[in-house]
Amino acid sequence: MRILIIGGSHAGISAAKYLKSLIPTSEVILIEQTNVLGFIPSSINFVFDQVFSIDNLDKGEVITSEQLQSMGITVLLKTRATELRPAKQEVVIQNSGTLSESCLSYDILILAMGSSKLAIAELGVGTSLSRVLSYKNPYETKQAYEKLSSAQNITIIGAGLIGLELATSLAKDPTKKITIVEQMGRPLFRYFDPDMTKILLSAIPPRVNFRLGETFSGLKLTGDQKVVTTCGDSSFPTDAAVLALNPRPTIDLIPTSIELEFDSTVKVNKHMQTTDPNIYAIGDLVKVPFGSMVEKAYLPLISIAKKTALAAARHISGSSNRGITESQRTIGTFLFGLYMGSTGITSEESVLLNIETQAFTKKISYFSQVNYQDRFSLTLKIIYDAKKHTILGTQLVTSHRETLELITIFAQAISDKKCLEDLLDLENYYAPQLSPNSNFIAETILEALKN
Ligand SMILES: Cc1cc2nc3c(=O)[nH]c(=O)nc-3n(C[C@H](O)[C@H](O)[C@H](O)COP(=O)(O)OP(=O)(O)OC[C@H]3O[C@@H](n4cnc5c(N)ncnc54)[C@H](O)[C@@H]3O)c2cc1C
Repeated sequence: MRILIIGGSHAGISAAKYLKSLIPTSEVILIEQTNVLGFIPSSINFVFDQVFSIDNLDKGEVITSEQLQSMGITVLLKTRATELRPAKQEVVIQNSGTLSESCLSYDILILAMGSSKLAIAELGVGTSLSRVLSYKNPYETKQAYEKLSSAQNITIIGAGLIGLELATSLAKDPTKKITIVEQMGRPLFRYFDPDMTKILLSAIPPRVNFRLGETFSGLKLTGDQKVVTTCGDSSFPTDAAVLALNPRPTIDLIPTSIELEFDSTVKVNKHMQTTDPNIYAIGDLVKVPFGSMVEKAYLPLISIAKKTALAAARHISGSSNRGITESQRTIGTFLFGLYMGSTGITSEESVLLNIETQAFTKKISYFSQVNYQDRFSLTLKIIYDAKKHTILGTQLVTSHRETLELITIFAQAISDKKCLEDLLDLENYYAPQLSPNSNFIAETILEALKN
């Protein structure tokens, strides 16, 4: 069986590896238009954090072509798929160096073209968007780094995970002033309720200034000065502006015979199969089931890209008919000295979804005397069904890296439809040199149940 995969990033690479492992006899060909495989999109943060230099951006790639080839996967770099011919089961490809074109036939085709920049029209900012920096690939990253490293007043558009992670890295340079423009009333609104974002806001230095409730509308030049404008005619000067918003699915290649959803994601079934049964779509091209209340949501995350790749590979190989399981939109991050995690729905979302929930938040400030953690803090918020106690969401903010891992336990508990009482039975190891003195989950739940 010959399987073609278009797109050599997180989804495409994962699909290639899973397929080769599940069907060793298959011919797996990975087609990537650039010479980069699986670039970590936030690599610019690692450059500002001095983890690697801007000249070593290959450290931001998760795998090499040689490693994939040693697994038996054929990798075609600098090769762009220019046309899909579903009726003939073939793809036209073009070498970006020689511009020579050829055709590749397939038994199964996997679309993993991911997402790219927002269309200008989506921001309604006219041509001035071309001055705004972005950094999803190495080329953009180099350009953005050059501008941002010499800029003192930097504007970040978007106070989601992407924008705040960049702000965390940039703010380490005390000469930089950062303004974050966000159309919602607070940062990270998708993942955290206001009481939790409040903890983050108190940790952010005054050099980072938020313009909340303002929508970016453009970046214009007044003489030599760049000026950011927001809807409602507000404006302020800046040295550089960087876009920190989720891009949109790359669908220019997709023929009309393959159905799209209303939001331009590719329509797929639970196996990631498109309306053409020989063609699958994965990663940032598709929506996935989110929790048990929301049928499907667009969750452009690397963990989700890998999950969709596995679902497709298992179906293609015939090893499972299970299909993709619900995602809980689990995230973990490190912002301004705080580890933050979220899974499932927020209290705010539960209102929108018309679910009667309760929430309980516990603050813990002690870890252990043997494994002493200076100024340890954990704020753990659990959101659960008011009647059945089924856990629906969890958010945590902590000073301690290992404690962030609690979020994975909650993500699994939500997927397994566990209730508060079930989690009291959770078995933990206890090693005094590693463990906290108390069981944070059990203590929080016992108090929640008293409420
Ligand atoms: C700035 C930024 C930071 C982010 N940080 C995180 C993070 O910390 N954690 C996280 O989970 N997610 C993060 N994300 C989201 C994450 O980048 C995406 O969810 C993930 O990259 C999706 O992987 P993908 O393989 O579906 O698509 P993409 O990564 O978009 O890759 C698509 C690939 O297809 C190739 N391609 C497209 N068209 C063609 C064609 N016609 N022919 C050949 N090749 C083609 C492209 O060159 C590209 O390599 C971030 C996103 C951005 C923008």
